[in-house]
Amino acid sequence: MSEDTALIGAMPKAELHLHIEGTLEPELKFGLAARNGIRLRHRSPADIRASYAFTDLSSFLAAYYEGMSVLREEQDFYDLAMAYFRKANADHVVYAEVFFDPQAHTSRGVPFGTVIAGLDRARADAQAALGLRAQLIMCFLRDMPADSAMRTLEQSLPYRDKIVGVGLDSDERDNPPVKFADVFERARGEGYRLTVHCDVDQADAVGHIWQCLDDIGAERIDHGVNCVEDGALVARLARDGTGLTVCPISNRWVAGGLKAAELKAMLDASLRATVNSDDPAYFGGYVNDNLAAAQRSAGLTAAEVASLARNSFEIAWIGAAERDVYLAGLDAYLRRVPGSAPGS
Ligand SMILES: [Zn+2]
Repeated sequence: MSEDTALIGAMPKAELHLHIEGTLEPELKFGLAARNGIRLRHRSPADIRASYAFTDLSSFLAAYYEGMSVLREEQDFYDLAMAYFRKANADHVVYAEVFFDPQAHTSRGVPFGTVIAGLDRARADAQAALGLRAQLIMCFLRDMPADSAMRTLEQSLPYRDKIVGVGLDSDERDNPPVKFADVFERARGEGYRLTVHCDVDQADAVGHIWQCLDDIGAERIDHGVNCVEDGALVARLARDGTGLTVCPISNRWVAGGLKAAELKAMLDASLRATVNSDDPAYFGGYVNDNLAAAQRSAGLTAAEVASLARNSFEIAWIGAAERDVYLAGLDAYLRRVPGSAPGS
């Protein structure tokens, strides 16, 4: 094990870009299908894995939505989330912000309250049993109409205390951030924090990031690596301290490369970039795998890897006291690992 891989393994970190539906491993999918009396198209978990040959965002999304068909009852959402929390805990994730896609479930007849009850119960148990704190972020599906997103926002209001923020995901083509400007404005008024996916190498990718800043007022950008193509945009992101949640291994599946050089450029420009796992059951790598892949590909130094963890706490949607506790834990860890201290 190299020194840097050893650094990553036990380094305390936050994960901020993780779709809970994207953590559905084929074995759990089979288990839930059996419990719910659902016949699957594939004969085994190995068959499912063999079918994952994504070439772009659309081909991934087709498998992602098909997988969700086994999620029906509150216990299904609980089991899904607990399985992720155990994996994250093993990767020394001490804090997580977890996306969920309510419209992908309510459109199948699963009540919003069923989804949130299962996820929130897992969140509470993860904190009690593992010491891993998590918060939920509700994402709107951008390939559905804006008025569907608005109805979903209204459905969420009885559960406002269980959801920290809102995001925007799914197919970005012809679905720019401004399509949802009214929804995000209403969400802000309801006290939700705001983040938006700007996927990699999409049409007008740079323009979409500008829209997030100027028309939406997003506090974070999910992915957003195309920002490095525009010096003025990089300067704006640096000035505002906007967080960016990069997911190297998923980039390799949908955009043909890890974009690790872009990640390094973001760090060089003092952007608050982080590394996350996106949909790890589909892309084959949890957060430590993503950090190790980025580190190897871009030749990141130990100090740069440490800065990714530092950024993950800096841009988390938590209070100052909690942030200080996480940063102190990270600093204590880094002092025990040669070469990872700031400035080294
Ligand atoms: Zn994502």
